[in-house]
Amino acid sequence: MIPSERHVWRWCPQCRAEMTQRRDGGEERPVCLSCGVVQYLNPAPAAGIVLFRDGRVCLVKRRFAPKQGEWTFPTGFMEWGEAPAETAQREALEETGLEVALTGLYAVESGVLPPDTPVVVIFYTAEETGGRLEAGDDAEEVGFFPLDALPGPIAFAAHRRVLEQLRAEAAP
Ligand SMILES: [Zn+2]
Repeated sequence: MIPSERHVWRWCPQCRAEMTQRRDGGEERPVCLSCGVVQYLNPAPAAGIVLFRDGRVCLVKRRFAPKQGEWTFPTGFMEWGEAPAETAQREALEETGLEVALTGLYAVESGVLPPDTPVVVIFYTAEETGGRLEAGDDAEEVGFFPLDALPGPIAFAAHRRVLEQLRAEAAP
């Protein structure tokens, strides 16, 4: 996937010279010929939880674009210096009001946040330890739903694949 123009630095953030495309470590990358800065473009890492209550799975409805009004697992982007498990617990609390303990790694999925940002989403299984169910932050609604009766369209392919995996495991 070639990075779209809006992701690529045109001007060097250190010395403000114009960036040049150069081969660096086997990849074509934006390089500053004036001060040596190289732009490494990487997928954005996100993390979140797969949480069940009475056989129903926790999903949140997106308050904001992209995919506003569609549903996802409680997930969010990692903050600088954060570990993925910390991200998953923080996002769970912010979006669902629930405190959770992580019980395992469930899936690692790559995807694209529309329009063109590659992401990696790390899904942990979780169990409730406290808090009170209440939508917050960038979630408009939160609830627990049967795997065969989801509340609406699921926003991202990475999340749909996790749901398919859960359904396959739940199948008799
Ligand atoms: Zn520079």
